[in-house]
Amino acid sequence: MYQKMIHRIFGYGKQSISLDDIESIAKVLNSDLISQGPKINEFETAICEYTGAKYCIVVANATAALHLSMIALDVKSGDEVITTPLTFMASANCISYVGGTVKFADIEPETANIDVKEIKNRLTTKTKALIPVHFAGQSCDMSAIGSLAKARGISVVEDASHAIGSDYNGAKVGSCAHSDATVFSFHPVKNMTTGEGGAITTNSKELYEKLLLLRSHGMVKNDPQLTDVHGKWFYEMHRPGFNYRMTDLQAALGLSQLKRIDKFKEKRRGIVSLYKKILAEDSRISFLVEKNYSNACFHLCPALIDFENLKIDKKKFFNDLWEAGLHLQVHYIPVHWFAYYRNLGFCKGDFPNAEKYYEKTISLPLYPDLSDSDVEYIAETFVKVLDNA
Ligand SMILES: *Cc1c(COP(=O)(O)O)cnc(C)c1O
Repeated sequence: MYQKMIHRIFGYGKQSISLDDIESIAKVLNSDLISQGPKINEFETAICEYTGAKYCIVVANATAALHLSMIALDVKSGDEVITTPLTFMASANCISYVGGTVKFADIEPETANIDVKEIKNRLTTKTKALIPVHFAGQSCDMSAIGSLAKARGISVVEDASHAIGSDYNGAKVGSCAHSDATVFSFHPVKNMTTGEGGAITTNSKELYEKLLLLRSHGMVKNDPQLTDVHGKWFYEMHRPGFNYRMTDLQAALGLSQLKRIDKFKEKRRGIVSLYKKILAEDSRISFLVEKNYSNACFHLCPALIDFENLKIDKKKFFNDLWEAGLHLQVHYIPVHWFAYYRNLGFCKGDFPNAEKYYEKTISLPLYPDLSDSDVEYIAETFVKVLDNA
């Protein structure tokens, strides 16, 4: 007899794929149209029904969605756009894509979401748009952000890459009740997936029509005013757009996944509750606070540890976690710390709350296929490694 070490490995996020998901893709693969077919429209309609928004366009990924939103809202050189430093870099990079000036507003430590007071402090006559990010799946205080923007004639794009399935004040994130547009990501680590993919919801017909053109080269097709004169083959182009299209294969997967989003949400909320129940007794570990206005489909479960106070080396602790099979991640390195933003004049110390948060945070594994015993095992392992750090 010998005892084999069973080394269980857990990442921080992972897709959940069902037989239905696989069959729905296979069906499209067997059909005539595998890129621009009927599933695209069906998926867009389903997202409208789910979120309550009037219009939706699905695109290649959320980064493309953010880029197109900036163009459609006419953000250009000389315009300032405010976002959070505690996000994935794409939330800020999209402002640079169109020549806009990136401004950051610090976070509130309780939720790690952008602080509305900090937004107010950074508004100028050049402020053109705001990009609040719903961190870890919890919506920002959109009614406060929306009324601030409305009073000043500023546009709002919600970066809801973490937040498909989440509710704010009883309405779905993506309803755009307090914004011009909402962007979702369907990357495999997010709340639901299309492999790669993204979507924009909006209640503005004008915005929708602009986005539709920009998604596919800026090409105008099937316009009777043109085809009657020139021939049925004719197409026109007024403004160079992009190929940011999603495929029908991806849309079929998205449709199938969207059917399960509420189940995913229940599972994700249950896992977060279980982590809190097991770990919150440990005075070294704390969690983000969920506000009354939120009912989040949690994308991340950050464990917050004051490493400095406890005199624990975070780098070593993180490596030890990997050795123990917990292949975790830190969300996020503050965006203004990256070389590109440093070269624009941002410095360490500019956004102390985001920076303090970054020092403390490590994201625990959170995805629907984790069982309760997995979560218990992960929490136990995490504490054991922390005890020995
Ligand atoms: C993942 C993510 C993005 C980018 O999404 P892609 O679909 O990978 O382009 C943008 N913003 C935030 C906050 C994200 O988490």
